[in-house]
Amino acid sequence: MNGHTNGHTNGHTNGHTSGHTNGPSIQPKVVIIGAGVGGLVAALQLHAHGFTNIDLFEAAAKLTTLGVGINVQPSAVLVLRNLGLLPALESTGIETQELNYYNRFGDPIITEPRGKFAGYDVPQYSIHRGHLQMLLLEAVKERLGEDPVHLNHALESFSNPEDTTEKVKIRFVQRKTQQAAAIPEAEADLLIAADGINSTIRSILYPKEGPPHFSGRILWRGCLEREPYLTSASMVWSGHANQKFIAYPISKASSRSTPSKSLVNWIAELRVRDENDPDLTPPPTDWTNTVPKERFAGAFQDWTFGFLNVPELIDQTDKVYEYPMCDRTPCERWSFGRLTLLGDAAHPMYPIGSNGASQAILDSASLVRELLTCGSLNDIPTALQRYQDDRLPTTAKIVMANRGNGPDHVMQVAHERAPDGFKHINDVIPQDELEGIGLAYKRIAGFEIDKVNEQAAKSEGTAERLGLKSPRAWTVNGPDRQ
Ligand SMILES: Cc1cc2nc3c(=O)[nH]c(=O)nc-3n(C[C@H](O)[C@H](O)[C@H](O)COP(=O)(O)OP(=O)(O)OC[C@H]3O[C@@H](n4cnc5c(N)ncnc54)[C@H](O)[C@@H]3O)c2cc1C
Repeated sequence: MNGHTNGHTNGHTNGHTSGHTNGPSIQPKVVIIGAGVGGLVAALQLHAHGFTNIDLFEAAAKLTTLGVGINVQPSAVLVLRNLGLLPALESTGIETQELNYYNRFGDPIITEPRGKFAGYDVPQYSIHRGHLQMLLLEAVKERLGEDPVHLNHALESFSNPEDTTEKVKIRFVQRKTQQAAAIPEAEADLLIAADGINSTIRSILYPKEGPPHFSGRILWRGCLEREPYLTSASMVWSGHANQKFIAYPISKASSRSTPSKSLVNWIAELRVRDENDPDLTPPPTDWTNTVPKERFAGAFQDWTFGFLNVPELIDQTDKVYEYPMCDRTPCERWSFGRLTLLGDAAHPMYPIGSNGASQAILDSASLVRELLTCGSLNDIPTALQRYQDDRLPTTAKIVMANRGNGPDHVMQVAHERAPDGFKHINDVIPQDELEGIGLAYKRIAGFEIDKVNEQAAKSEGTAERLGLKSPRAWTVNGPDRQ
């Protein structure tokens, strides 16, 4: 389990921002818990910057392409570009061109160009979560080797990470049977908790926190192949805070037999519990089981816009999954001595503003940037504090902004002012106000174009300098074998 050697050791540049050019001064034993987007990108980012002693433990016995569509914002795509993943992303996902907001009748509210179409030097991608996870996993295995990835190892407990005289001792079990895992115990100089919204590590650190906070709204998600609509790379958001329908393509030419079609991801969202209900306990969540469409389809039966027939889209979809919309109130600390939280374990947020995966990726970049400043293993707790200072306030603001509907607030304002529809949006919302809502959110979420472009220019050519080769792209049929 120790000393994986197929990493780089010399000549590293800190890809995301300027700074350290000679790789790390320390080689801590790093243990990452969770092989979701956050954990996998953390492993790749550590490896790219010269850390060679990394192990990744994942509770699932097998990683399959679970989930539906997610978005990776330009600020996060930049991190992935510098890890040499751009070609695989380009072929796996869809380069998003625009986001169109409508009311529930399909009257247009506002269109926002996205990614390069908005002036960023790096794209935004809409992508299948499972395909992204698979391509990241493949890159991890190619670069770090197969040995550091341990499936079927659920973290069960760990020793006090604030006792910095000793390594953290971590115990694992196999979840289904609760049997000792093949590697029952590991030790770490640095423990990264990337174990998602139901993080075991967070529940040990915050025993009174309990289950995630339920918004009272449920998302039903599905995807199907269909002919493209609008620009073929357009995201459609329609409705208002208590009833929404979202659709966007996440993969082109997903099936070679129907190359003109794309895989379109959709989300039907409904409030199922009163806004003032004091019960915030979420209904049971299962990412893997399908549910009957009757639970929600009736509420959307007359949602037919010119280019999008919602009842037809729902009807033609084979598998529908149910996701109660949950988050957690931001906590005070992520970093405890040699341990820190990352991604959804640190800041689970409502999937509004398409931010969950992107913020997990930005966490990894910040964490590794701070670790590169360590002169000795004793500096790790300070580096983790600085990572927390950098990322906790920013992500806490996004969590709270998403509770207030984030950029989707334009739809709610339009609905409240014109519940029966409107002829022209400026009759109900002046242009300044309309644009202001989106701009305010972009500032909170770190989507500012100038900042992202400045970092993109500074780190141009990083992946090439590090010799990082792109993994294969993914399709609905598995890895692209072309
Ligand atoms: C199966 C699944 C499907 C999803 N589908 C969607 C979707 O369709 N759309 C969307 O917007 N978001 C989805 N999400 C959430 C989205 O992936 C995250 O918001 C975002 O990518 C941040 O990822 P993360 O790595 O922090 O957390 P996650 O992606 O949740 O990854 C956490 C990982 O940790 C593992 N884990 C949990 N507990 C332990 C433990 N004790 N020991 C070891 N490993 C552990 C989990 O199995 C998981 O692989 C999904 C998450 C999961 C797990």
